[in-house]
Amino acid sequence: MTILVVGGAGYIGSHTVRRLQELGEEVAVLDDLSEGHAEAIPGVPLVQVDLKDREACIAAVKDQAPEAVFHFAASCYVGESVTDPSAYYLQNFVATLNLLDGMVAAGCEQFVFSSTCAIYGEPETLPITEDLPKNPINPYGRTKLFCEGLLADYERAYGLRSVSLRYFNAAGAHPSAEIGEDHHPETHLIPLVLEVALGKRENIKIFGTDYPTPDGTCIRDYIHILDLAEAHVLGLRALREGRARVAAYNLGNETGHSVREVIEEARRVTGHPIPAVEEGRRPGDPPKLVGSSALAREELGWKPKFGSLAEILETAWAWHKSHPDGYGS
Ligand code: UDP
Repeated sequence: MTILVVGGAGYIGSHTVRRLQELGEEVAVLDDLSEGHAEAIPGVPLVQVDLKDREACIAAVKDQAPEAVFHFAASCYVGESVTDPSAYYLQNFVATLNLLDGMVAAGCEQFVFSSTCAIYGEPETLPITEDLPKNPINPYGRTKLFCEGLLADYERAYGLRSVSLRYFNAAGAHPSAEIGEDHHPETHLIPLVLEVALGKRENIKIFGTDYPTPDGTCIRDYIHILDLAEAHVLGLRALREGRARVAAYNLGNETGHSVREVIEEARRVTGHPIPAVEEGRRPGDPPKLVGSSALAREELGWKPKFGSLAEILETAWAWHKSHPDGYGS
């Protein structure tokens, strides 16, 4: 039976599709290609549907009659969610509601969901464990938290079982450099830093240097895209084996890197001076997010393989060098 990967043409989705294919799984992708790239999933059946179109979304899921659904199709920019919350509630919450209703209509009861560490807001203790209070400080985090609430309700009412994976900062690219990160416009730190090294930008802007961190810049937990992909596969296994009903796991490396550290490591990896310009804070950014992934290791058997920032930057750099204009190169 098919695994339906919703948002499978996007960054994290396409790397997960690649991994599912390696494992011999039957995969189909549902994507509106608003952010995704058909080139990222060569040879994979692609159904183009806007999840916000309720009737079309439900019909598409029923048509596929999948064994399980992976859901990556969401907007993920903290800053944009602050200025345009309406778009975020539609794309992240309403679309997920439609998708789940499609699953209920199709009798599909296994769901792996892309959640986020942004649901924790500004946690009082670090590293972040799953039991900490959920107090998102931006609409992006709130939309994802509301979706996790939906999942608990849908399990109780309809028996739809789920694994929510709360990502920290996804980064890096497939080691083959055939697929990688390609967003328009790009707002994430690592690809922007590498665009400076490629000569596509003059400098990298550091958003905030007065945070309560050792060097004054925000600290994030960067996690390699293939380690994220593997966690999805393990989430599916837990669902198939009946080990998960409404489970949620943090996916991070348990190590934080500041914006300045990322830039410094990128200078080493690329050999480019990467000029940096200090700017004010970006709205909605918590000072420090570092996750404990002890639960995912214990219950899913997750073992991240690309632990170092160097490996993350090296694989991302190989992709950006070979695809300076992304999939359009
Ligand atoms: N950041 C920055 N300059 C940029 C882009 C991002 O200083 O051009 C900072 C941002 O404020 C945050 C960190 O880098 O503290 C990671 O941001 P990103 O957008 O990559 O991921 P997020 O943590 O928002 O999901």
